[in-house]
Amino acid sequence: MKLSGTSSNIPSNGQATNGSHNNGHGLNGYHTELPDNDELMDEIGDAHGAAAIDTPMRPDAFAIDDDLKIDLIEEHFREIMSILGLDLTDDSLKGSPRRVAKMYVNEIFSGLNPANKPEPTLFDNKFRYNEMLVEKDIIVQTYCEHHFVPIIGKAHVAYISSGKVIGLSKLNRFVEYFSKRPQVQERLTVQIAEELKRILETDDVAVIIDAKHLCVSTRGVRDINSSTVTSSYSGKFAEEATKQELLHYVAQPSVTI
Ligand SMILES: [Zn+2]
Repeated sequence: MKLSGTSSNIPSNGQATNGSHNNGHGLNGYHTELPDNDELMDEIGDAHGAAAIDTPMRPDAFAIDDDLKIDLIEEHFREIMSILGLDLTDDSLKGSPRRVAKMYVNEIFSGLNPANKPEPTLFDNKFRYNEMLVEKDIIVQTYCEHHFVPIIGKAHVAYISSGKVIGLSKLNRFVEYFSKRPQVQERLTVQIAEELKRILETDDVAVIIDAKHLCVSTRGVRDINSSTVTSSYSGKFAEEATKQELLHYVAQPSVTI
């Protein structure tokens, strides 16, 4: 299937050619970045398919620092609001472009920068605990990369130690780090699983995410009931008995204190 209108705008290195960053202002070329077939692009947005494990990034993603990113995003977001017809001199609106820019860079998309990756705290498995450890009901708050609206849900992460154990809160931190990116749920699941396998030096890792996509509930098909479940079972977790044990724990109501 050929995506008409995209091949000339998006070369294989994923770098945009219209130079939206280098003029810093104005709308030069913005119309040419729109795909010719909006309907097809909507379908791709709804398909939520992940093509690769790594988040697609420009090679020069960190050539400019966070302060400059905030300044540039502020400028561009002001333009978006202005095009929508909003009065940027209004007291309530005038601070929004900078607020959004700071939120993007410092908060909700801070996980794009590897400098913000948590340091894993590993310990020797002195207790010789050789069963699975399940950290369940970890809150997931990420953003759909197709619509830039929230995906909110829960992650359940499990591993069986190969000799090292990780500080419990680090499991939450890694879920949080990979969530702070524009994401598709499938890729988020795999990114968390692959990182934990690497750190813990074991294939015995499982990740399950159950989440609601606001792009499904608040627009498009407007289904407020459905949620999306993704999973990654590796090593022993790919074996039926181990998987069933994990699913049993996840299905139990959470303890309340
Ligand atoms: Zn979406």
